[in-house]
Amino acid sequence: RAKGSGKGRLEIFDQQMYLQTLARHQLEKDLRRAVEQQEFSLDYQPIFALANREICGFEALIRWSHPQRGRISPEAFIPMAEEIGLIVPLGAWALQQACQQLAQWQSQCPAAASLYVSVNLSMAQLREASFMTTIDQALAQSGILPSCLQLELTESMLMDGSEALVTLLQGWADDGIRLSIDDFGTGYSSLSYLHRFPVHSIKVDQSFVNSMLQQREKRKIVETIIHLAHQLGIEAIAEGIESVAQLDYLKLLNCEKGQGYSLSKPLPSDAAELLITEHFVPSPSATLEIGGPA
Ligand code: C2E
Ligand code: MG
Ligand code: MG
Ligand code: MG
Repeated sequence: RAKGSGKGRLEIFDQQMYLQTLARHQLEKDLRRAVEQQEFSLDYQPIFALANREICGFEALIRWSHPQRGRISPEAFIPMAEEIGLIVPLGAWALQQACQQLAQWQSQCPAAASLYVSVNLSMAQLREASFMTTIDQALAQSGILPSCLQLELTESMLMDGSEALVTLLQGWADDGIRLSIDDFGTGYSSLSYLHRFPVHSIKVDQSFVNSMLQQREKRKIVETIIHLAHQLGIEAIAEGIESVAQLDYLKLLNCEKGQGYSLSKPLPSDAAELLITEHFVPSPSATLEIGGPA
């Protein structure tokens, strides 16, 4: 690496390092405070069955509303939270919150009984010995069925593929919890773990979906991933559907489910609730049945 001309360069470098460290340090401090002060919330993005546009579930997406800096993207703070170990309490909070929220929706709207909530997990959570208890507690305290919980894992989390992890995931799958591979195609796509782990669905990464109609290579990747899922008997969920044309194309490929701005953006919980009550309104015939003959 070229060093340039000595001292001057070094000072600039030091200054940049300093500023970066400062920003990191500040972010870290803010994050720790945010966990204590409960500055986090969850948005919910509906996941639709593409064939009939039924809402099947919601992905819970964490939001941080910083008192000075406003909304901070999870892309910016999740990696830091992972690095400093804060993702463990934060992730546990998100899991509990999402399960509680779903329980509330299900009790308000019995037609939504099979609705599920999909929660993103980080590696550090899987490594935590107490995480199994965290899951059990989230289910027990909310009272939702295990089949109403989906856990999103990434390829890199399954890479190490230890026996302990296989056992852990198998236990969840046996209980009925759905396991989904998030951002599929962007990590170390090793096909070996797909049959070692009890995977329920694959989420096709949005980077392929949102340019698939312009770029043949992306389109071929989307087609291949969906085909792979079907060959393995698991379902495909497309992420980042931004146009009706993309939606139509995915339907043509028999992609089971999808989410994206053209269907619905992630919604604050009250807006998601409104959507649920509108979506699951009993049809006139169902009302008749419930009312029964006079
Ligand atoms: P992800 O799990 O892949 O979530 C999908 C991201 O795509 C979300 O970004 C969502 O808002 C965004 N998105 C949805 N539809 C569209 C679309 O049509 N177009 C585009 N361009 N984007 C769309 P978000 O909410 O910023 O979250 C980013 C990432 O942060 C997530 O990616 C996930 O990896 C992570 N994350 C979010 N919440 C949690 C959490 O509770 N725990 C953990 N460990 N990670 C989380
Ligand atoms: Mg996700
Ligand atoms: Mg994703
Ligand atoms: Mg992602």
